[in-house]
Formats: sequence, structure tokens, C-alpha cells
Amino acid sequence: MELWYTQDYIENYQMSLKVRETIYRGRSPYQEIAVVRTELYGNLLLLDGIAQTSEKDEFMYHEMLVHPAMLTHPDPQRVLVIGGGDGGAAREVLRHPVRSVVMVEIDGEVIEVSRRHLPALGNWDDARLKVLVEDGIAYMTNAREEFDCIILDSTDPLPQGPAEGLFTREFYQNAFTRLSPEGTLVSQIEPPFFHPDSVSTLWDYLSMFPVVKLFWGMVPIYPGGVWTYIIASKRNDPEKVSRPLPFPTRYYTPDVHRGAFALPRFLADAFQRRA
Ligand code: SAM
Repeated sequence: MELWYTQDYIENYQMSLKVRETIYRGRSPYQEIAVVRTELYGNLLLLDGIAQTSEKDEFMYHEMLVHPAMLTHPDPQRVLVIGGGDGGAAREVLRHPVRSVVMVEIDGEVIEVSRRHLPALGNWDDARLKVLVEDGIAYMTNAREEFDCIILDSTDPLPQGPAEGLFTREFYQNAFTRLSPEGTLVSQIEPPFFHPDSVSTLWDYLSMFPVVKLFWGMVPIYPGGVWTYIIASKRNDPEKVSRPLPFPTRYYTPDVHRGAFALPRFLADAFQRRA
């Protein structure tokens, strides 16, 4: 009997993947957590039925979420990751010569399940990594530390979901105050093809930053196969990055970095409308 997992995430759009087996299924106080073994993407983490990250294509997402932002700051030493419970974002940050990475993930069960069933994603034993299992919204309100780079790798802002408050003007204002003078913030955001309004809303919320840009990258497992990121800097232009990465990557290259900021006309218009 063939087993298929079908994702109902965007209205009038379904995505189905052939599944060998369900490896884990459980419910935490925040969400349903599952890991399925797919034919195409290897192990796939699902939260409330929504594909988060897969063994096969996670590098595309995590390299583009992390490296453009890390290179936009001249020397990022203190990095904050909000969400990122699968470990992929923190793993990519730790490849840089940083002093410390704080990961604030609301759901400890996502970390445990990811460590067990997506082991290649995390670099959990690096002494520079400090994992706090708490709400990133409260953390950002109460934190007193300063960071050079803040990486928002949360689930999507679904109504009443734990991530909804991470996409607000207040949250970004708190993040702004926690960033050092050349600080950079990056966030994964909704696919503008399906949610064009999300781009302009988030730009508006980030308008306290002098530099706000949109960029994109391939993520086959996400709806439409293309994902977008919004990056905001207190001083440096992510399009003027000239430093190469001091380590090999499988998706990110300096040319990919440059090309990622070349937006299709419909997207540039949506973004510029707010400018
Ligand atoms: N790469 C995925 C994506 O783009 O959809 C997200 C990866 S990661 C699994 C998302 C994480 O954000 C989840 O583990 C979830 O528990 C966490 N999260 C959601 N809301 C949060 C909050 N308010 N504070 C901290 N972590 C949160």
C-alpha cells in the first residue's frame, strides 16, 4: 500500500510526498511534531503538519538564512537565533569564528526529536552554543545582552500560533535595541507569490533600520520551491558584501549572494511600494 503525506498549507494548494514510514509523531504543549521518511527528501520534520526542513534540501535554506546576514556584519561575534529548533541555522552560524550563539527555541521537544531523527542538522555539542528553551518574544522583551546578528528562524506567523508575535513591530523594535551599532537582523518570511502583502507589512515594521532588503533562494520543499528572506542592518548594505566565506558551502556562493537580491519585477514593486 502506497503511503503519501499531503500538506494543506496554502489555500487551494496541496503538496504530496511519497512516504516510506512515519518515524515519530507526538504533540508538545505548542504543536504537533512529526518526522516522516520520504522517498524524495529523506527525513522530513513537520510541525502542525507543515514541512519545516528535510535532510535533502535543508542546506539550501540554512545557508541562505545565515550567511548573507553573517557577512553583512564586519565581525559578528555574538549571535542570537530565535526558533531554529532543528539545529540547522545554529550549525551554519557556528561555522563562522563567532564567540557565542544563543538559541531561543520555545519547544524543547522539537530539539529532542531533531537531535534524534535529523542528527546531521545540528552541531549541538559546540561549547559556543547556549540553548534556551523559552519564548523568543519574552526573551527579546527582557534580554539585556547585545548581539551582532539576530536570526529569526521560526515557524510561520499563523494566527494564535507561537510564532505570531515574532512578526510584529514591537518585536522588531526590541530586536533593534538588542543589536550592536553594525547589527544585522534576518528573518525567513512568507512566500511573496502567495502572500505579497507580507513583504510590505514586514518592511513597514522594520523601517527603524536604515537598510532593509529582500532576497530569495531555492527551497524545493517549501510551497512554490522559492523562499524569501528579509534582512535589516543598522549600517551595512548586504548587497555590498565583498568578504568570501572561509569554508565550503553547497548552495551559497558570492554570485548566488549577488543574484539573490535581484528581485523579479512583481516582487520589487511590492517591496518598493513601501519605500
Ligand atoms: N525553517 C523552518 C521554516 O522556515 O518554517 C523553521 C524551522 S524551526 C523548526 C521553527 C521553530 O520555531 C520551531 O521549532 C518552533 O517551535 C519555533 N518557534 C515558534 N514560535 C516561537 C517562539 N515564539 N519563540 C521561540 N521559538 C519559536
